[in-house]
Amino acid sequence: MLIADCFIKEDVLSATVATSSGSGSLQDRLAAAWQGPVEWDGRLARYTTLRVGGPAAALVKPASVAELAALLPVLRRQGLPWRVIGRGSNLLVADAGLPEVVIVIGPAMAAIRQAGQEGSERLVQAEAGCSLPKLVSWCTAEGLGGLEFAAGIPGSVGGAIAMNAGAWGREMRDVLHALVVVDETGGVQILPAASQVFAYRRWEHAPGVVVAAGIFRLQPESPEVIGGRCRGHLQARREKQPLEPSAGSFFKNPPGQAAGRLIEAAGLKGLRVGGARVSEQHANFLVNAGGATARDFYELMKVVQEQVAERTGIRLEPEVHLLGFGEAGR
Ligand SMILES: Cc1cc2nc3c(=O)[nH]c(=O)nc-3n(C[C@H](O)[C@H](O)[C@H](O)COP(=O)(O)OP(=O)(O)OC[C@H]3O[C@@H](n4cnc5c(N)ncnc54)[C@H](O)[C@@H]3O)c2cc1C
Repeated sequence: MLIADCFIKEDVLSATVATSSGSGSLQDRLAAAWQGPVEWDGRLARYTTLRVGGPAAALVKPASVAELAALLPVLRRQGLPWRVIGRGSNLLVADAGLPEVVIVIGPAMAAIRQAGQEGSERLVQAEAGCSLPKLVSWCTAEGLGGLEFAAGIPGSVGGAIAMNAGAWGREMRDVLHALVVVDETGGVQILPAASQVFAYRRWEHAPGVVVAAGIFRLQPESPEVIGGRCRGHLQARREKQPLEPSAGSFFKNPPGQAAGRLIEAAGLKGLRVGGARVSEQHANFLVNAGGATARDFYELMKVVQEQVAERTGIRLEPEVHLLGFGEAGR
């Protein structure tokens, strides 16, 4: 039905995979086995919306799904640890950085196309590096409704699927028809969304799997009506959310509660640690008020957790993924 094979181009594979199995440091082993572009010690602050985070041992930005499918088996064969990020809009990365290969799925892998029809619904396939704002605009112009809830969420399609991102009572799982994933063997598979387990801000998936594209079920509708809904959502965000750099809602809402209200009720709006501050506008946004470090955010997070727990008995869990802090932040 939907063609994942069309992504694979042999010329890309042979151009980037070297034959050496390599030895020594991560950098040496990657350089020996992968001839595609690598950014060594690139600061992750440039790849996160909080604007904090130290260097990654190596940053690789696949230019296509084929290149991603070539890269993962190389990393596996070399025994090189890796992780994938999108637009970094849900990440707190430690100041010390990350000792692994960080795969950044970005604008080079961002194609969108109509991919068929299911009854009255249209299928749209968007590669993982496509930003949600770009996808929402494309769907609006094409007169395809359903993704308006995502207007204003600054993540990538891959990150949004991995996070089951949502707003206004809708989530990615509500519009997802299937996922195209790449695994560490370089295999590209199409997984029906109905076969996957999604929960609040979570997709439960096997380790070593990267989302290469999402296929969405959308309804034909007037672009003006769809655009109107998007503008409404964007306006509501502008009224409620701070403009300073943030990672969106920092904590998950506990069942039946709003994390922001609990933080506000604890009197923590405006609380500051170094350059990190609890937003005055929306207490569940921790913002970079200027010159913040990842340690500032981490300490502010701990203070908020402790004070809310002391007052209510509820321990707020971060929605933001903590990387490089040596604790279960995912
Ligand atoms: C101003 C602002 C407003 C926001 N509003 C919302 C909101 O309303 N609702 C909401 O849900 N979120 C919101 N967010 C949070 C964030 O935008 C979403 O979680 C988004 O989906 C993350 O996408 P990303 O590409 O930035 O992922 P990243 O932050 O880069 O990564 C997040 C997680 O996804 C994984 N991941 C990323 N790409 C892939 C891939 N291709 N394959 C497999 N795993 C992958 C990463 O390993 C990581 O664990 C907001 C953030 C900001 C800054």
